[in-house]
Amino acid sequence: MQSVALPAAPQPRRGGFFGVVRRGQTYRNLLYLALAFPIGWIYLVVLGSLFSGLIGGSGIVGVAVVIALLLGGIWVLAWFERSLASTLLRVEFTPTSGPTPRGASYWDRVQAYLRNPVTWKSLLYLVLRVPFGILVLTLGAVLGWVTAVLLFAPAIYAGAVLYAPPGGWAGAQDSFAPNMGLYRLFAWLSISGQFDPTYVASSVALTLVGVVALLVSLHIFNGVAWGWGAFARQMLGMSIKDLQLAEARAIAQQARTRAEQAERGRRQLILDASHELRTPVATIRAHIDSLLMLEGEHLPENVRSYLGVTQREAERLSVLVDDLLMLARADADELQLDIRPVDVGRVVEEVFRAMEPLAERERQITLVREVAADLPPAYADRERLVQVLLNLVRNAITYTPDGGIVSIDVAAGPAPDTISLAVSDTGIGIPEEELEHVFERFYRTDASRARHTGGFGLGLSIARDLVQAMGGTIAAESVPSGGSRFHVTLRAVTSTFPT
Ligand code: ADP
Repeated sequence: MQSVALPAAPQPRRGGFFGVVRRGQTYRNLLYLALAFPIGWIYLVVLGSLFSGLIGGSGIVGVAVVIALLLGGIWVLAWFERSLASTLLRVEFTPTSGPTPRGASYWDRVQAYLRNPVTWKSLLYLVLRVPFGILVLTLGAVLGWVTAVLLFAPAIYAGAVLYAPPGGWAGAQDSFAPNMGLYRLFAWLSISGQFDPTYVASSVALTLVGVVALLVSLHIFNGVAWGWGAFARQMLGMSIKDLQLAEARAIAQQARTRAEQAERGRRQLILDASHELRTPVATIRAHIDSLLMLEGEHLPENVRSYLGVTQREAERLSVLVDDLLMLARADADELQLDIRPVDVGRVVEEVFRAMEPLAERERQITLVREVAADLPPAYADRERLVQVLLNLVRNAITYTPDGGIVSIDVAAGPAPDTISLAVSDTGIGIPEEELEHVFERFYRTDASRARHTGGFGLGLSIARDLVQAMGGTIAAESVPSGGSRFHVTLRAVTSTFPT
């Protein structure tokens, strides 16, 4: 499988304790955190009103509109969050969804959006944005306040001395009550209107502590921003596993489409090629026949023999082209059958009359037939059924040694409302393990290949396609006493099958 390029997971940046001040990322993180609270509030209002609309929405249309707004809202806000986090926090996101299949309808896309876990993780993320905003605000206030007091300790001390009430801060609690609580500190420290050198030195020392507190605060904010960025990456993008799965699915779908196209192309090629070959093959055959008919002329014996071979091969070629055309049509669902009630007994009689003299004269094979009385007609294409039967009988004669017996039997089928046609022979038989393969295209048993029968191994696969197209089945079995039997089962007209 093609490997998926994944964005790298964010790494916390280290640049030393003091380096935090010089890094631009620190200030982008601070901006992001500064926006956290107002954004959290906006989401609270937006999502809150959508949810309350969902609960209190009147009528199906009203609820549907609110759901559509909510889904659209999740989409827009998640997109905004991804942009914000990638711009300010430099988070690299995985995609929100796998590749959309080509030609997917609008409804398909909505369904895919609803099925996508990222949609629901995004909603959770947006909801969590609210407590995150509050948390960041609280943290910012505490750290900011402590750091500011420490940093500006000398100024605060100076202010406390300069603005000390007469008699010092210790006795002035009540009148300075609202002054941010600092007065308690001033009172506790008993600051008076006089500068105390110890306090001056201590306040300058506190400024240094304030610098350290500032740096620590920046590190804490960086850590919070990094942690939230990592969380955003998890919530607003596909998980690596889902991403790989989606990619694999897309690749498989592409391969399937390509394979289907190739398969269609292959079928069309065979269809066109066999169609185009028919005319030249027919012309060649006609010309060879004409040459062989030049009775008056004196054809040298070897030329006549060459022509004989050419004629036989041209005939084979013609049969092959016809067979290929038939198979290509079956593959392309272009077999046009004329299915109607057919008297199977009469078809058997016709085939019997055509083949019996030939079998007897050329191979001393006895062809027999037995047709049960009072059989209903079967659903079939008469011409195609004749073709199938001729093929089975021809095979039976071909693979039966001289003096054997080939029989055609027609009777009611084993299943109700079916008619069974069997062609049996006393020939070389088919090994058990090859029985299921004889209907495959170009399949010939070893025994048959050794006999040079001239067949291509296509007759039975065509027979199967035709019988199946008539709604019937075909199967082969070995006869224990030697030889083979082919069963064709057709639907009887009394059946409840549709025509
Ligand atoms: P072919 O033109 O080679 O006869 P078919 O598709 O009609 O092609 O038959 C496929 C193979 O099945 C044959 O090559 C032969 O090996 C085997 N087969 C078919 N009919 C018989 C039979 N009656 N007895 C033994 N083998 C048979």
